[in-house]
Amino acid sequence: GHRYDLVVLANRLPVDQATDPDGQACWRRSPGGLVTALHPIMQSRAGAWIGWHGRPGAAPKPFNHDGIRLHPIELSAEEVDGYYEGQSNATIWPLYHDAVEQPVFDRRWRQAYHSVNHRFAAAAAQLAAPGALVWVHDYHLQLVPGMLRKLRPDLRIGFFLHIPFPPVELFCQLPMRDDIMRGLLGSDLVGFQHPQGTTNFARLAAHLLDAELADGVIKHESGVTAAATFPISIDVAGQQQLATEPPIRARADEIRRELGSPRTLILGVDRLDYTKGIEHRLTAYGELLADGRLDPAQTVMVQVAVPSRQRLDQYQSLRERVETTVSRINGRHAGIGKLCVHYLHQSYDREELAALYLAADVMAVTPLRDGMNLVAKEYVATRTDGTGALVLSEFAGAAAELRQAWMVNPHNLEALKDTLAEAAAADVAEQRRRMEPMRSHLRRYDVNRWAAAFLGQLGDPASPEPS
Ligand code: UDP
Repeated sequence: GHRYDLVVLANRLPVDQATDPDGQACWRRSPGGLVTALHPIMQSRAGAWIGWHGRPGAAPKPFNHDGIRLHPIELSAEEVDGYYEGQSNATIWPLYHDAVEQPVFDRRWRQAYHSVNHRFAAAAAQLAAPGALVWVHDYHLQLVPGMLRKLRPDLRIGFFLHIPFPPVELFCQLPMRDDIMRGLLGSDLVGFQHPQGTTNFARLAAHLLDAELADGVIKHESGVTAAATFPISIDVAGQQQLATEPPIRARADEIRRELGSPRTLILGVDRLDYTKGIEHRLTAYGELLADGRLDPAQTVMVQVAVPSRQRLDQYQSLRERVETTVSRINGRHAGIGKLCVHYLHQSYDREELAALYLAADVMAVTPLRDGMNLVAKEYVATRTDGTGALVLSEFAGAAAELRQAWMVNPHNLEALKDTLAEAAAADVAEQRRRMEPMRSHLRRYDVNRWAAAFLGQLGDPASPEPS
C-alpha cells in the first residue's frame, strides 16, 4: 500500500463516531488541543494517524477523513481493561503525577500494555515511507519508539509526553521501568512539557542505564537521544476570535444574570480527576465563606467537573468526596434559589466554555500536579480586555510560562484561601498588569509554534527550527 512521510501515533484517533442528520453513522473531528494543532500539518503533508477508534472489538478498515489517512487499531475488551484503564490510567497516570493517588500494579496489565504497544509499532512500521518522520504521543505508548526502532532503523522517531515525567525515586517504583526507559530511548527526540521533566528523564537515563549526558543529548547503549522541553499551547487566535463573537459575549452576560449577578464569580473547569485539586479548592472556598472573608450573598462558584474514567474505583470515590463537599458548602451557606457552588458534572462545548471564561472574575486552576493545564491558557487568551484574575497552582506545567498569575501551593490551605481572597479583591488595574504579559506570551507561543518547534528539532525540512 501507500507509504507516508509523516506518521502520528496516539492512543485515540482524531475523530469520534457520530450520527449525521440522516441518521447515518459518521466520523467527526474530535475537539481538543492536539487534534487542532496537528490537523493543518497532517492535511498539508497528507500524513497518516494511527490510533484507537474508541470501542472494544473489531476495528473499522483504514479510511480517509478530512485529508488525513486514519488507521484504526483494534483493542479487545480485555486489552481496554489492561492496557488503557489498567496500566495507563491506574498505574502510570497516578505515578507520573507525583503519586497523589496510590498507583495500582498488576502484572496482567503489563502484558496487555506490551502487546498493544507492539500492535501500534507494527502498524507504523508498515505505513511509514523510507526515512519518514514518526511522532509518538503520550504515556499510553511509551514502548513504541524502541519497538519501532528495531523494526525500522531508517525512521526519525519523536516522542512527546503530555503529562509530567516524575523524579527518579518515583519512576523507579515502576515494575516496567527498564522496558519504558528502553522504549523511550528508541526515539531520536523525546519532548516534555516542563524543564523539570526533561531533567528528570536525563537523570534517570544516567541512573538506570549509565547513559552519558551532554548538552541536551543522552548517549546510551543503543544510540543517541535528544531530550528537550516543548510546552504545549492552544489555538490562541481561535480562542480570541471566540471571545469577540457577540452571541458568546451575550451568553456570558446571561450566565451572570442567571447566577444572580454576583459581585464575584469564581470558576473551576476540570476533568473530574484527583490530580486537579478540586477538593482542596472547594474546601478553601467553603472556609472563606465560613470565616466571613467572602460574602455568600455576593459570591458564586461554578465548578465544571467533566466526567472522566468512571469505571475506575479511584474516580468513583473522588466523585463521592467532591459531591459530599459541594453539598456541605451549599447546605451551610446557600439560600432558597441561591446556591454557593454550582457543580456541573457535565461537559461543555468550546462556545459555552468561552462564555464561562468571559463571565468569571476569578479562574481557579489549582491542580496538585498537571502536565500543562490548557484551561489556564484558554482563560488568559479569552480575556481580550485584560481583565480577570487567574489563580494558578505552582504544580501546573503552565506555571513556568504564566508567571504573572496569582501563584499558589494548593496543599497549603491557608495560602490557597489567602490567594483566592486576594485575587477576588484585585482591582482592574492590577488584573491588567498581570494579564497583559501573559496574553502577549501566549500570542507568541501558540500551538502551531509548539508543533513546528518539535518537528523542526526532529529534523523536518518543512518546519525549520525558530532561531
Ligand atoms: N474542555 C471542554 N469541555 C469542558 C471542559 C473542558 O472542551 O466542559 C476542554 C478545555 O477547553 C481544554 C481541555 O478540555 O481544552 C482540558 O485540557 P487540560 O489541559 O486543562 O486538562 P486535561 O483534561 O487534558 O487533563
